[in-house]
Parts: sequence; structure tokens; C-alpha cells
Amino acid sequence: MNDVAAAGVYQSFIGLEVHIHLLTKTKVFCGCRSAFGDEPNTNVCPVCLGYPGVLPSLNLEAMRMGCMVAKALNCRIPEKTWFERKQYFYPDMTKNYQISQFASPLGQEGCVDMEGRVSGGAGGELIKRKVRIRECHLEEDAGKMIHTGTVSLLDYNRAGVSLLEIVTEPDMENGEEAELFIQQLRRIVRYLGVCDGNMEEGSLRADANVSVNSRGKGLGRKVEIKNLNSSRFVRLALNHEITRQTGLLAEGKTVVQETRLWNENRDQTEPMRTKENAQDYRYFPEPDLPVFSPGGAFLKSVEDALVELPLHRTRRLAAEYALEEEQADMICEEKACADYFEAAAGAAPRSAVPRVVNWLLQDVRRIMGRDGIALGDIGTIRLTPARLASLAAAAEKGGVSGKNARETLEAVMLEDRDPLDIIREKGWERISDPGEIARAVGAVRAAEEAAFGEAKAAGAEGNAKRLRTLTAYLVGKVLAATGGRADPKIAGEQIAAAIENM
Ligand code: ADP
Ligand code: ZN
Ligand code: MG
Repeated sequence: MNDVAAAGVYQSFIGLEVHIHLLTKTKVFCGCRSAFGDEPNTNVCPVCLGYPGVLPSLNLEAMRMGCMVAKALNCRIPEKTWFERKQYFYPDMTKNYQISQFASPLGQEGCVDMEGRVSGGAGGELIKRKVRIRECHLEEDAGKMIHTGTVSLLDYNRAGVSLLEIVTEPDMENGEEAELFIQQLRRIVRYLGVCDGNMEEGSLRADANVSVNSRGKGLGRKVEIKNLNSSRFVRLALNHEITRQTGLLAEGKTVVQETRLWNENRDQTEPMRTKENAQDYRYFPEPDLPVFSPGGAFLKSVEDALVELPLHRTRRLAAEYALEEEQADMICEEKACADYFEAAAGAAPRSAVPRVVNWLLQDVRRIMGRDGIALGDIGTIRLTPARLASLAAAAEKGGVSGKNARETLEAVMLEDRDPLDIIREKGWERISDPGEIARAVGAVRAAEEAAFGEAKAAGAEGNAKRLRTLTAYLVGKVLAATGGRADPKIAGEQIAAAIENM
């Protein structure tokens, strides 16, 4: 059966479990520093190492950030939320249990609108879908195991780091949708400033659950795929797995419920282990942490920290500034870039906005790329939004040529000075004041008596070609006298009038 026929007979379901490291300064239940890449086992204490008798205490900042994400995903925050112990043995977790949330997670029953395209996906088609969020829960991360040859090394710096797990309902159908979900979630948490979204460093990790069943028969037997450290791998692994499961069903076989790993070298999923059920974890309420009731002041601090979300902002800016879909998307890729754009576009006259858009997406981004400045740091560049706006306005009014304006962009980045000063200094500023040009014309008139006389004679004889040549010569003199700044059109008109009136 080919893929198209299979898609008609079978239906696929995907649910994601996304873990994000919250950007709290300290860990979730102790005061240890929460940082990536420090010397192994330097950010540890009796609490996160699970010594007997120590007491965890909740990091309120982690709870607040978790609730921000929950709100952004339209979840309900319950009146009471608490923690459970999830029991299992693994050397990366010294307590033999993980403090997590089970019965009343901090965010419940949300949903998120997805809209966009994934490059590299099936033809870059526009995807629109609503994905329900089952829950968001706060937990502690485990340590890190590094296997080298015959020894395994343990680094507990990551043990106890604030982790928020976001669990979706199985509402997605293919790898492209799952990739888009992760990309959009990544943008949201970065906009909120609660996670850096770095998948290679493991700040955002996704496990993907997928099943296939005969169409109309509901969910199938699910397989969980782990080890997905890029959104592209999520897409590839899921599409591979859907094809594999569909093939099994088409042959009359059943899918084994198991955990599989994505093998990025072979482009395929491979079995890892059969999975525990919830009962196996023997969840029970964490006795050392009190129930948390998010009160009015706490909820207000969550509300106050929220920002306009990326999808909303993309749509709004597209409508407000008549942007193309791709332009709006690029501008809103990072909050800092959208902020920069809005500040520049807001300071520029309406007619100069297209110029702001083009310069930002082409010249400014190119210069930043060349100089190794990240898009997230666009707010710190010397070419401030106000400077970009004033330059765009000057170019729009014809105060400087387009070519010189682009050179000015570079000069501002290099010299950290006002673009209009640079234009003036370089002699790129156009003089369009008729009085000022008239003074230059007067000076040329005095110095070029002979040329004026010849031009007058050429005009009288009806020698248009000779008249044009002489006029151009005289305009050239005016431009030279003004350092190339006089508006050539006005200068030409004045020279013509001066010849006429001789
Ligand atoms: P588990 O108990 O194995 O952790 P859950 O029911 O908690 O499973 O679901 C975990 C994730 O798997 C959720 O994102 C959910 O949407 C997804 N999921 C659950 N059942 C299926 C299924 N049959 N097919 C696809 N995804 C599923
Ligand atoms: Zn600690
Ligand atoms: Mg589960």
C-alpha cells in the first residue's frame, strides 16, 4: 500500500511531552546555582544530592514561570496545586524518587492555536491546527550520565534544576505538525523569557508519542520516541514511525507498545525498552512540601509578566504595517527583533516603513550576521531604532540617495554616531533649499561667464544639443561647488532659468 492509500485507511495520532528548563537562577527545591556547562558536581548540596533528612523548599520563581507558560497555553491554574514523589531507581537520581506533580499540576486543560509552515516539511504547506494541552507540571530534572568506554560518569549539576513538562493531547497527525508545535512553543517560552529554548543543550527536550489505527477507530497502541534533540528530528522520527506502524498494521500485525529511540545516523527509530505504567511509579504526595495555593498577589505577578504572544504579534504587525507573511514571520522570530521593528516603524513616517522593513530584514540582519551579533541582541546595536527611522525618513524625502543611505547604516554600526551627522559629514546630504542652490548658481555664473555666453548663443541659434551640453557642464559646476550635495534637478532648473534671463 502506498502512503496516500494508507493515509485514507489509517489515521495517526501524536501527543508530545515537552520538557523545558526554566531560567531560574537557582534550582527548584534548593539554593544551588542553575547553570549549563559549569564544572561537574560544583552546583550541588545535600538537598539536590538527596541526603537523608533534608528538606526541599519551593522556588517561587519556578512556580511563577511555570504558571506564565500555563497561562500562555490557556491552561486553568487550579486553586490548589501540590507535588508528588514519582518513585523509580536510576543512578542519575540519588533519592530514588523525583519530585513531580501528578494529581493537581499547576496548569490544566489548555489549548494552543498553531499556524505556520515548517521549512523542509511537506512542501512548506500552511498548517493550521488547535492542539489541546493536557497539563503543565513542575518537577526537578535528574543528573546527567556520561558513558565513556567502560566507566559511567555522573554530573549532578543538573539534578534539581527547574523543569516544566508540557503534555499535549494526541491532537497532531504528522511530523510536520509536531515540528511546528515545538517551534511555536519554543518561540512562546523565549518571548516569555522563561527558557532559552536551546535544544542542543537540552533546555528544551521533547518526547513524542505516536500511534496509528484504522481510520475512525480512535487511538492506536502508542509508541514513545525519546532522544529527539532537534525539532527536525521530531518530524523525521514521527514520519518514520507512522510509516513503520502503518506498514505493520497493513500486514495484519500489531504494534508493540514500547519506547523507541531516534537513531540520527540511520534515520530510523529503534526499540529501547517497554514502558512502565503510572502505577509502577507509585506516586504519593510529597510530605515535605506544603500545598501551594496561588493567591491574588501571586496570580497578578504572573499576569503582569505576560507579554503579547508571537502568533498574535505576527498577525497584528502584518495587519498594522501591511507586511507579507514571510516578513512578519521573520520580524517576529525573536521578541527583541519585533520590539526593535515596532520602535523603528513607530518613529518613522508611514511612507518610510517599507524601507525600514527592507533594511531590517536585509542590510541590518546581514551586518549583524557578519559581525556575529545574535538577533536576540538587536536591542543593543548602535543602529538604534530611532537612528534607523531617521535615516529611512531622510531617504524617503530624497535627502540622501538609497546607496548612500545603506552605506550610512554601515557607518553608524562602525562609528556609533547619528546617521544624519554622518551623511552631512560625508557630503551625502542633498541640498534642496532653492535659496542655497541659487547662491551656488550665482557663484558659478560669475566664474563661468564664457560658458553662460555660449549657452545663451546656442539657445538663440536653436542648437539644442549644444545648449544641453553646456547646461550639463554648468550643473556639474554647481554640484562641484556644493560637494555633490545640491539636488541636481533644482540646480538644472535654475541654470536653465539663468541662461534664459541673460
Ligand atoms: P503515559 O502514561 O505512557 O505517560 P499518557 O497517557 O500520560 O501516557 O500520555 C503521554 C502522552 O502520550 C500525551 O502527550 C498523550 O497525548 C500521548 N498519548 C497517549 N495515548 C496516545 C496514543 N494512543 N497515541 C498517541 N499519543 C498518545
Ligand atoms: Zn542543591
Ligand atoms: Mg504520562
